[in-house]
Amino acid sequence: MKIIEHIDEMRVFVKPLKFKKTIGLVPTMGALHQGHLNLVEQAQEKSQVVIASIFVNPAQFNKKEDLAFYPRTLEADLAKLEETGCDVVFIPQAEEMYPNGEHLKMALGKIGQFMEGEFRPGHFNGVALVIAKLFNICLPDYAYFGQKDIQQYYVIEKLTQDLSFPVSIEQVPTAREKNGLAMSSRNLRLSQEQREQASLIHQALRAAQKILLAEKSIALAKDQVQKMFASQKIIHLEYFEVAYADEFLPLEVLRLEKPVVLCLAAEIGGVRLIDNLPLK
Ligand code: AMP
Repeated sequence: MKIIEHIDEMRVFVKPLKFKKTIGLVPTMGALHQGHLNLVEQAQEKSQVVIASIFVNPAQFNKKEDLAFYPRTLEADLAKLEETGCDVVFIPQAEEMYPNGEHLKMALGKIGQFMEGEFRPGHFNGVALVIAKLFNICLPDYAYFGQKDIQQYYVIEKLTQDLSFPVSIEQVPTAREKNGLAMSSRNLRLSQEQREQASLIHQALRAAQKILLAEKSIALAKDQVQKMFASQKIIHLEYFEVAYADEFLPLEVLRLEKPVVLCLAAEIGGVRLIDNLPLK
């Protein structure tokens, strides 16, 4: 497995390959788990060269302490990628990715306005910026993103369309722990007990899904989720919303013209977790 640390080095590597081989990109922030490795495996199906990037992107963190406490496990990450058969790992430094301090600001429109956009101001701008940079540096034909961060997936799809990146954006299903908790690098910051408690997130989404399918009422589904969280002390609900999966504008009345997704964010022991479930 080739390790590339500098932008110029990646350009020298990737340019001669560009029109000879299909290139798949898996952007990550490291602290890799099976969810990330599933993205690499999915990339291997269509791409002759798979590049995984590991970059804890400061531009997408709206809280300094979240960036400071973000897990970093580079050696273990490299071992996992090697074992999965990843071809190249790109590990740039922030100073090289952002030499100018002030970042480009993009108006992402409605898709980035609510839910993660509302609760993490500036987050999607940082995501869009780093993905645009990685596309320009790694020149992928395909790029892989998890359903776990579904609003991010659609922000990146919009970025790709609006800026005409010649990249096909692929979505990979959410990998979960046995108790239903979505795998996340941030789970490393939870105790065993907190991980058990955090399974409430998936349970609440499933309960809300059941109500929505049976009663078609968003108000009832929200009541149920709030009740489930109110009965627990150590985990706190940040938001639960129901939206069209390509818009992310919270719906008040359930309409089924387009695929609908249930989105939830919660906080446990100072760690913020998100998850979602398609209605069907
Ligand atoms: P991150 O390292 O958290 O920025 O995630 C890198 C990529 O892995 C993103 O596209 C995420 O959506 C995806 N990802 C993270 N967790 C999961 C999971 N549990 N299942 C599937 N994909 C995931």
